[in-house]
Amino acid sequence: MTDKPFAVMVTGGAGYIGSHAVLALADAGWPVVVLDNLVTGFRWAVDPRATLVEGDVGDEALVGRAIGEHGIGAIMHFAGSVVVPESVKNPLKYYGNNTANSRALIAAAVAGGVRHFIFSSTAATYGVPDESPVTEATPQVPINPYGMSKLMTEIMLKDVAAAHPLNYCALRYFNVAGADPQGRSGQSTAGATHLIKVANEAATGKRGHVAIFGTDYATPDGTGVRDYIHVTDLAAAHLLALDALIADPAASHVYNCGYGRGFSVLEVLDAVERASGVTIERRMEPRRAGDPDALIAANDAIVRAFGWRPAHDDLDTIVAHALAWERHLGRRNAG
Ligand code: UDP
Repeated sequence: MTDKPFAVMVTGGAGYIGSHAVLALADAGWPVVVLDNLVTGFRWAVDPRATLVEGDVGDEALVGRAIGEHGIGAIMHFAGSVVVPESVKNPLKYYGNNTANSRALIAAAVAGGVRHFIFSSTAATYGVPDESPVTEATPQVPINPYGMSKLMTEIMLKDVAAAHPLNYCALRYFNVAGADPQGRSGQSTAGATHLIKVANEAATGKRGHVAIFGTDYATPDGTGVRDYIHVTDLAAAHLLALDALIADPAASHVYNCGYGRGFSVLEVLDAVERASGVTIERRMEPRRAGDPDALIAANDAIVRAFGWRPAHDDLDTIVAHALAWERHLGRRNAG
């Protein structure tokens, strides 16, 4: 039994961030339906308290049926493609999986009477911003198809919310990292490119070294600075967003999700060495195309609006949780 007014659909609930949102929703007593095509997600990553519907977000008929059958009142939309260099090589994949599929999902939501929509947006919509920290008013000028595909979805939501009885919250994630503190989920997709995951793979012997992409940035130690946010704090922000959308159906929201402080690549590698006790081989390499010097979120808006209180704003904690998951994955794959 639940005291909740409806069920929540989580697209991409078998993936990294989506699976953590499922945990947060289920822990809070929400009935959850996961919609995932299991291309990059994993069946085992879907919490047993959730119902899994296997299929595509772009399949409007399937989504429509699921909305009706399960009494879906809100959608949290995480499904999509997330690798920036791949988006440059294969933009149509990103405009398909991210933009066109989001359009289909939003259309199914409107047709099915879904009232609330929460969307995974990204700091990549800002491109290489002129100001730091980045506020929600910083101009959005994406420099790759990934960021553009997400910005286009933000624009669709704004227009749809003005025309139909649906409100939305777009959350612009900075650098999401870490894993469920209870060890129930984490980042599992192979071929990782994100720094903390890559460094933990090196610490657990899955790769030989870590490349440092650029040492001549305008930062204190010359390496790129990012605002790393714990995935569990991010999931918590989604629950607060859901409460806010329900409380005021006339209001929509767009917020940055970060902690408002940054760490360099070298500081991250130091933290991984502290957590693991392993010395990581570091190789200096040229800059990666399109990487800004520093990307730090101004988060005053979400703190003020939702009363968001991060519980894991600590690099060592983020790294330790990610490392624990990496070791768990190693045991899982060995077993
Ligand atoms: N980075 C690095 N080596 C890696 C992966 C990332 O030096 O193997 C750097 C990257 O240039 C950036 C920071 O680490 O300064 C974070 O990169 P990541 O790919 O994790 O996230 P992004 O900020 O690109 O979304």
